[in-house]
Parts: sequence; structure tokens; C-alpha cells
Amino acid sequence: KVEIHNVSKSYGLLRVLDDVSLTLLPGSVTALIGPSGSGKSTLLRSINHLERVDSGFIAIDGEPVGYRRSGDRLHELKEPEILKRRADVGMVFQNFNLFPHLTVLDNVVEAPIVVRGRPRAEAEAEARELLARVGLADKADAWPRQLSGGQQQRVAIARALALKPKVLLFDEPTSALDPELVNEVLDVIEELARSGVTLVIVTHEIGFARRIADTVVFLEAGRIVEIGPPARVLDAPDQQRTARFLSKVL
Ligand code: ATP
Ligand code: MG
Repeated sequence: KVEIHNVSKSYGLLRVLDDVSLTLLPGSVTALIGPSGSGKSTLLRSINHLERVDSGFIAIDGEPVGYRRSGDRLHELKEPEILKRRADVGMVFQNFNLFPHLTVLDNVVEAPIVVRGRPRAEAEAEARELLARVGLADKADAWPRQLSGGQQQRVAIARALALKPKVLLFDEPTSALDPELVNEVLDVIEELARSGVTLVIVTHEIGFARRIADTVVFLEAGRIVEIGPPARVLDAPDQQRTARFLSKVL
């Protein structure tokens, strides 16, 4: 379980996250929506300790992210420890971010071998299974530049899964794709959502959020304005601000 406790973060005078609290239960699917600049990416990046929060804390299965407990104080971890813990959180970005100098298969096995110390043969066997799961069994030996955007994004998803993360974070995974490639990526994410992976997705695909999420969080100016099941937040929001946002993106 991922617990976000009263997290705040500012850049200079700009408060980007303002006392955000949220719990992600195992197997839950959370859609994070909100206007540009509302703090959605910052919140995801904080779960991975790619951003350091100013106050509050985030814990995964009781372990503070980026810190270790000592008595009732938190000490920031050193880089190798942070990297090891970061493997608990899979992240898929808008722009795929594959390693261009590695084949598809090597993109997927890199982290399990380097971070988890897995033997190459085992890691490759698992990587091939994951590539099959995202529909790319025949692309193992291709180079990223030889793939479409939708295929590259599916490799990025297989790569994130290869570390067997406790939670998988997607930051607008389809917004850099040509429209005809969006569905092949959404289908893979939907399959993951149904398979019990704990998942958070930042998306402007409201129909998709309604279909796969059990919880929708509407963030505005760094605050959770509204949270609940999609049928309520998306179709019958309590807050005018949510309704106003939805009328613009739907
Ligand atoms: P979008 O929908 O456009 O991706 P977002 O909800 O993901 O927006 P964030 O990327 O989390 O928003 O950014 C929140 C605010 O923090 C924005 O005003 C942004 O300009 C600011 N911000 C983000 N990163 C930094 C940084 N490294 N330094 C200064 N300001 C930053
Ligand atoms: Mg963003």
C-alpha cells in the first residue's frame, strides 16, 4: 500500500503540492486528473523520490520513500539505497525514454540485471514473457528507433514491469502518440489494471479513466479538490471546479 501523508512541496514561492493525502490500496487503479500545472507530475515524481517533498511523507508498505526511520526521525537515504527502493515504483513517461543504444530486449533486462542482480538468462526469459504480454514478442531484437511510438511505449511498460514494482505510475502515457496509436497502449494499461497491478495514471483520456479507475482524484493548484469513484467525480461532481474542468476536457 502507498500512503501519501500531508505532502507539501514548493518551488520558490509557488506551492505546487499543498497538504496532499492519499492512500493507494493494493490492486487499486487511480486516475489523477487536473489542469496543467496543478501538480500531477510532481505528485507522481514524489512517489518515486525523483522530487523531494518539503513536508509530510510518503510510505510504501510502511517504508518511507527516500528515507529511513531512526527512532521518530527520518534520515534521507544515500543514492544506492534510493535507487534500490526506487525499483519498487515503476514509472512510464509521456516520451517513452527508452535507451536508444539498447535493443528492445536489453531495454527490458537492463534494470533487473543491474538493480536486482538477476542472472541474464532468467531476466531475458522473463523479458520475453513481458514483451509477449504487451504484444511485442517479435520485436525483442529491434532497436527503439525502428518502432512506432505506440510500440515504444509498450516496451516502456514491459520495462517498468520487469522490476516487479509494487506500484506502477503512468504520466500521460498516450499524449505524445498519434491518435491511431493511442488505443494499443490504453489496451495494455487496461489489461494491467484488470490484472491487479496497483496503478496510478495521469491522463486527459476521461473516458478511459471512467472505464478502468476505481478512484478518480481531481487535483487543482496542488490540492485534492475531489476524490471518489468515477461515477461520482466524473459524472456527478460535488465541486463546481471539477465540473468546470471536465466541461473543458470532455
Ligand atoms: P501538466 O498537465 O502540464 O503536465 P502538471 O499538473 O503535471 O501539469 P507539474 O508538472 O507537477 O504540473 O507542475 C506544477 C507546477 O510546478 C507548475 O507550475 C510548474 O511550472 C512548476 N514546476 C514543476 N517543476 C518545476 C521545477 N523543477 N522548478 C520550478 N517549477 C517547477
Ligand atoms: Mg505533468
